Amino acid sequence: MIELHLGDITELATDAIVNAANARMLGGGGVDGAIHRAAGAALLEACRALPEVEPNVRCPPGQARLLPGGNLKARHVIATVGPVWKGGTCGEDETLAQCYRSCLQLAEEHRLESIAFPAISTGAYGFPIERAARIALREIRAHLHKADFPSLVVCVLFNKADHDVYRAILEE
Ligand code: ADP
Repeated sequence: MIELHLGDITELATDAIVNAANARMLGGGGVDGAIHRAAGAALLEACRALPEVEPNVRCPPGQARLLPGGNLKARHVIATVGPVWKGGTCGEDETLAQCYRSCLQLAEEHRLESIAFPAISTGAYGFPIERAARIALREIRAHLHKADFPSLVVCVLFNKADHDVYRAILEE
């Protein structure tokens, strides 16, 4: 089942919430900053402990990492790194799709019942919201169709305009 939620993802009590992180994975602005503030030191320590795959890169774009939720209601944080929008001709669509697939695959491997996603890459990284929403909802639907876990995916939108975009696409 897919649900839409208008609000702050740090307040969700799903088994995991997804963080739209950066490759360095030591915190940042937007949803990343909010999640680190709410989760506390346990999350940052777990991020620091992740191996770097190259200098200053703990998670390349499109991949995901399972982390503890610390003080959050959610038991886990799944961090993923979205593409920076460069006009749409640099593989941004495919990298964004990979983010959703990687997170959902981790949730499936760990038999998580529920997961909440923010609109990855649509803030500081500049991905157009409608194009991102179509990719997100396509990948979530495809996963729900073929897998037993998770059974609930919540798309969390931080403002009403984004929520309206998602709702319109879901109702098509
Ligand atoms: P990115 O760098 O991947 O673009 P941002 O954090 O800048 O990440 O933005 C991603 C999306 O998360 C944006 O749509 C933004 O409005 C939204 N967002 C920011 N803070 C929160 C929050 N606390 N809960 C849910 N969504 C949030």
